[in-house]
Amino acid sequence: MIRLNNVTKSYPAREEENNGGLIKALDDISLSIEPGEWVAMMGPSGSGKSTMVNLIGCLDRPTSGEIWLDGQNVANLSASDLNHVRAETIGFVFQQFHMIPYLTAVENVMLAQYFHSMTDEGEARRALDRVGLTDRARHLPSQLSGGEQQRVAIARALVNDPKIILADEPTGNLDATNEHIVLDLLADLHQQGSTILMVTHDEQVGRCADIRLDLEHGRIVETTHFSMEVNQDFDEVLEQLWADRERTFHVEPEHFTAAQQRKVVAMMARIGLVELRAGEVAFTPRGEARARSVIRRHRLAERLFMDVLAIRDEGSIEKNACTFEHILSPEVTDRICTFLGHPRTCPHGSPIPEGDCCLEARGAQLTTQLTNLQTSLLS
Ligand code: ADP
Repeated sequence: MIRLNNVTKSYPAREEENNGGLIKALDDISLSIEPGEWVAMMGPSGSGKSTMVNLIGCLDRPTSGEIWLDGQNVANLSASDLNHVRAETIGFVFQQFHMIPYLTAVENVMLAQYFHSMTDEGEARRALDRVGLTDRARHLPSQLSGGEQQRVAIARALVNDPKIILADEPTGNLDATNEHIVLDLLADLHQQGSTILMVTHDEQVGRCADIRLDLEHGRIVETTHFSMEVNQDFDEVLEQLWADRERTFHVEPEHFTAAQQRKVVAMMARIGLVELRAGEVAFTPRGEARARSVIRRHRLAERLFMDVLAIRDEGSIEKNACTFEHILSPEVTDRICTFLGHPRTCPHGSPIPEGDCCLEARGAQLTTQLTNLQTSLLS
C-alpha cells in the first residue's frame, strides 16, 4: 500500500545550524507497508516524522527517491495530481482537529467529501454514526469537547473510504478516556482493513500498532513487529533481569513457563533488547534503558499507591503497579515522580532509577545551594 524507495528530503539548513548547507530531514529511507497494516512511527523531535507524513500524505514532494501509494509513484506528480491522489487515497487525522469553527460537525465532515467529489449528507451522517456522534451532527466545534472534535475529525478522515489513514499524534490533545475512544476507533478501522500510519511519541499508544518504526536523524534505526501482549512480555522479562541483577526480591508473579520465557528471550535477542553471553541472558544498552524505565514506572507506581492512596495490601499494590508499568507515558511518569518528590526507593527499599526530572531537580537544588553559599560568603 505504501512503499518508499531511497527517499531523501533535504531542506536548506537554517543559518544557525550549518552555514547555509543542506539538512536531510529524511535520509535515504526505504520501507514497505502492506495493506491493512497499522504502523506507529516514533522518534525524537526533529527526527523526520512530520516530513514523512507530509510526503506520504502528498502534501510535499521528496528531493529524490520514489513514493508508491497503492501502486502509483507520486514522487514527481504535479501539485494538482497530488491533490487528486490525496483526496482519493488518504484520510488525515491531526493532533489539532482542524475544524472549521462556523461549520457544524456534519458540515465539517461534508467538507472532506466536497474536496473528494460530491457532498452527501446521508453519508456524512453515517460517518458520524460510526464514531458515536449521531446526536452531535448539528453542533459547532465550540460546542464539542476535544474528544468529540477528534471523533469528528476521524469521521471526516474516513468518509471518503480512504485506503490509507495518516494520523499525526491523534491522541496528543486528549485525556485518557478520549484517548481510549480514539484508539478503539483506529483499531476498528484496522480490523476493517484500513492501512494506518500513525505518528506518536507515546509508548503506550505506539504499542497498539503492529509495527513500530523508530526514526533518528532522518533514518529508520529500528523496525519492531509486535502485538501489545508481546511487548508486555518483553517488559516482564526485562524487569526480571533487572531484579536478578540487583538481587532484589521481585514479588511479581511468574508470567511464563520456562519454555515460554525462552521463546520471549529469543525474540528479544532478535530485536536487540538482550544478548546471550556464555549462556547467560544480558541486556543490550537499549534493553537496559527500557528495563530501567519499566522498573522506574513500576516502583513509582508502588510509591504512589502506598504513600498517596494509602493502599497497604501488598497483593493489590503489586497488581496495580504491574498494570501501571505498561501504561504510564514518560511525561506522566516524570510528573508522578515530581509529585512524590523524586523518591529514591520503592516501598520495599529497592532503588528507583532516576529520570530526567530527578536530574533537573537535583541541578536546581545545587544551583540554589551554590547561590546561598555565595551569598553567605559575600556577606
Ligand atoms: P519531527 O516531525 O520528527 O519533529 P521534522 O520532519 O519536522 O521532524 O523535521 C526533520 C528535520 O528537518 C529537522 O531538522 C527540521 O528542522 C528540518 N525541517 C523540517 N521542515 C523544514 C523546513 N520547511 N525548512 C527547513 N528545515 C526543515
